[in-house]
Amino acid sequence: LSSRASTILSALRIPAGGDVPGVYDGQWGGTGEPLVSLCPSTGETLARVTTATPQEVQTALEKSRQAYVSFRTMPAPRRGEIIRQIREALSTKIDALGALVSLEMGKIKTEGLGEVQEIVDICDYAVGLSRMMNGSVISSERPGHSILEVPNPLGVVAVLSAFNFPVAVYGWNLALSMAAGNATVWKPSPSTPLCAIAVTRIVAEVLEKNGINGAVAGLICGGKDVGEGIVKSPDVDMVSFTGSEAVGKIVGKAVQDRFGKSLLELGGNNAAIVMPDAPMHIALPSILFSAVGTAGQRCTTTRRLYLHRSIAPSFIERLQRAYETVKIGDPLVAGTLLGPLHTQTAVQNYQAAISAVRSAGGEILAGGTLHTPASAELQNGNYVLPTIAVPASSDPKQDIWSKETFAPVLNVAVFDELEEAIAMNNAVPQGLSSSLWTRDVRNVGKWIGPAGSDTGIVNVNAGTSGAEIGAAFGGNKSTGWGRESGGDAWKQYVRWSACTINFTDEAPLAQGVSFDL
Ligand code: NAD
Repeated sequence: LSSRASTILSALRIPAGGDVPGVYDGQWGGTGEPLVSLCPSTGETLARVTTATPQEVQTALEKSRQAYVSFRTMPAPRRGEIIRQIREALSTKIDALGALVSLEMGKIKTEGLGEVQEIVDICDYAVGLSRMMNGSVISSERPGHSILEVPNPLGVVAVLSAFNFPVAVYGWNLALSMAAGNATVWKPSPSTPLCAIAVTRIVAEVLEKNGINGAVAGLICGGKDVGEGIVKSPDVDMVSFTGSEAVGKIVGKAVQDRFGKSLLELGGNNAAIVMPDAPMHIALPSILFSAVGTAGQRCTTTRRLYLHRSIAPSFIERLQRAYETVKIGDPLVAGTLLGPLHTQTAVQNYQAAISAVRSAGGEILAGGTLHTPASAELQNGNYVLPTIAVPASSDPKQDIWSKETFAPVLNVAVFDELEEAIAMNNAVPQGLSSSLWTRDVRNVGKWIGPAGSDTGIVNVNAGTSGAEIGAAFGGNKSTGWGRESGGDAWKQYVRWSACTINFTDEAPLAQGVSFDL
């Protein structure tokens, strides 16, 4: 193994190239078929991780339920204190974890650090939340009665996560779920198990030090079969799933089939619209970052760019020049802006998207091919050039426009009226993020109002990617309607009880009904 990989792994006590247990339910284990963690920037094997057998999945879920039964009675502010300690433990490891995210997922180091900072931030948020998960008191129609809406812990929350945010998505769920008094069990992406193990170890140490059952924050590594086992289990009260629309559809239906609760955060196909009066000096770098950041592998990546006809030629020219300056290479080296794609399959999807544009008569204005880095160490990495494409047709119903290609491919089209651009923005199945670039307040009114963008995140003069934790994060339509992180998202992690209490000796019946006995 390369020395840089060995250094990063050993800082988190992961045996470089060795075998690591991938199941934690209070104790570490797992005897299932091992997963191989590959480094996307060099192709080297980082470690092998044991998975859970079907029986071990069952046992881990039963232990989660037992852990929930004791954890739910701990007062919420006391749970907040545990989250505060987790926050402290994570914050001492930001650099090591950020480097691991970069090594195993492939995003550049600053994005890796930013992602770990998010789990720290959401812990801060959840500490406060632990004192503010308030119910309500409602006026009753009946004299001497009160109605309370009470948030109680929900049970076991399973978090099934995607490869592209191997730490933050779990953090968003864990912090809220734990504040709410649940046991949480994590099934990470099979290609980023080491990030999951490193985070779980840090959390587990805090729980164990406080005498809390470690299965309050369990981990079950594995692939599709393990995911299916968790989704179908009646021991799991809510499945919080982050991933593709295709798998989300299967998961959503399977959870619905047993009347479980689900929270779905699925694919995005996000558009930026540039009006003639846009502040170009901020539009250009923001759109570049949103299209190219994380090598186009953010759910909020800008994939569609709609330019007003009057500014399209000059904007494209400037964007082409900006694309040429993007430094591609080792994500762990300072100054790199574009790391590798996560897998070989992603490279194939990138190539397929580009040939689809070409074969339909479209044009490639930048990129469009694989990239071979100069360094010998990086020869087996999954590097591609960031790409600007102009498909022959701008019909949003065509696959090129309506499907998410998880790679740095930006499709461009021209429009004449804002209404036309909004219609194109809204015409795709997905509804995650969108941004409008303008200084005209009348455009802003249209964009954020009833006839405006139908996505869950609707920005003005800010890129489609890079959401903050304070607001609820999520998308509409085939993105799954889920909301995570801030806002009212916590309300999904509890079960609500509407409690009518009669403080009198009378029994007035509803609707004035009288049973004279
Ligand atoms: P994926 O759908 O391939 O995998 C997601 C998870 O589902 C993994 O843990 C996987 O092992 C598991 N899984 C696979 N088949 C399963 C099954 N039949 N039952 C249960 N679990 C199963 O997604 P990915 O390639 O890891 O991630 C990329 C996708 O995630 C993109 O579409 C991206 O837009 C989306 N994403 C969305 C958000 C959001 O907040 N909306 C955030 C990050 C990523």
